[in-house]
Amino acid sequence: MKIIATAAEMQQTAQAAKAAGKNIAFVPTMGFLHQGHLSLLEEGRKRGDLLVLSIFVNPTQFGQGEDYEDYPRDLQRDAELAESCGVDIIFAPTAGDMYPRGYATYVDVEGITEVLCGASRPGHFRGVTTVVCKLFNIVQPDVALFGNKDFQQLAVIRRMTRDLNMPVDILGMPIFREEDGLAMSSRNVYLSEAQRKQALVLSKSLLTAKRLAAVGDLDCHEIIESVKKDITAQPEARIDYIKICHQLTLEEQHKVDSDSVLLLAVFIGKTRLIDNGFLLD
Ligand code: AMP
Repeated sequence: MKIIATAAEMQQTAQAAKAAGKNIAFVPTMGFLHQGHLSLLEEGRKRGDLLVLSIFVNPTQFGQGEDYEDYPRDLQRDAELAESCGVDIIFAPTAGDMYPRGYATYVDVEGITEVLCGASRPGHFRGVTTVVCKLFNIVQPDVALFGNKDFQQLAVIRRMTRDLNMPVDILGMPIFREEDGLAMSSRNVYLSEAQRKQALVLSKSLLTAKRLAAVGDLDCHEIIESVKKDITAQPEARIDYIKICHQLTLEEQHKVDSDSVLLLAVFIGKTRLIDNGFLLD
């Protein structure tokens, strides 16, 4: 396994691999790897001759007052985990290499970036699409793998690749959870023991909502009210949003159907957690 720190070297390496007829599978991350990331790498290993993992805490997707500085980082540990998954190359650039002085170009997907996390975190998706577009140009993947955990991010990236004719297949992967149901996230390390218990309310309320839908309670307002009640019962929980949206347009729905996804963003203390799930299987 090789660790590459500059965009120039990564791009040359990718070009040489393509010229040699190799397929490139790519998993972009911000590092501090957990089993969710590893599940993407394991699938990526099957899909590409060359498996590239990027680790980059992207400053342009963090807003003022968010956790850019504090975001957990541990390249050595990540490298050991990546090697155990058969990663060929870790691309770990510096912020200065990705955004040199005078950097001025951004990618902006309209519409679906303006709701949900986009409404709560202005500019977030502009940072995400910009860095993913850059990473695609540098790594030149045939297939890129993303988690359903970041449901809106995946929808935005699919839209960007389609709208800009990017020659990359986007593969969405299931949410990987802890045994008790908590969706794995690098940010879970911020939680105290008491908060960790309260955080279970996200996955539990998804299950409650699914159960309601399964017995024919399809009114979105009622489901949302029930979820709201569960979440507000937690002493340190503060709701950012609870929405039921169409999986493709992300438009809010009134009545649950097979395209309905419940999306949650909840602060537990200072930690913002997200989770989501389809309501009818
Ligand atoms: P991050 O490092 O948090 O930016 O995540 C990098 C990639 O891993 C994104 O495509 C995420 O959706 C995905 N990911 C993060 N957490 C999980 C999880 N629990 N299960 C599956 N994929 C995940």
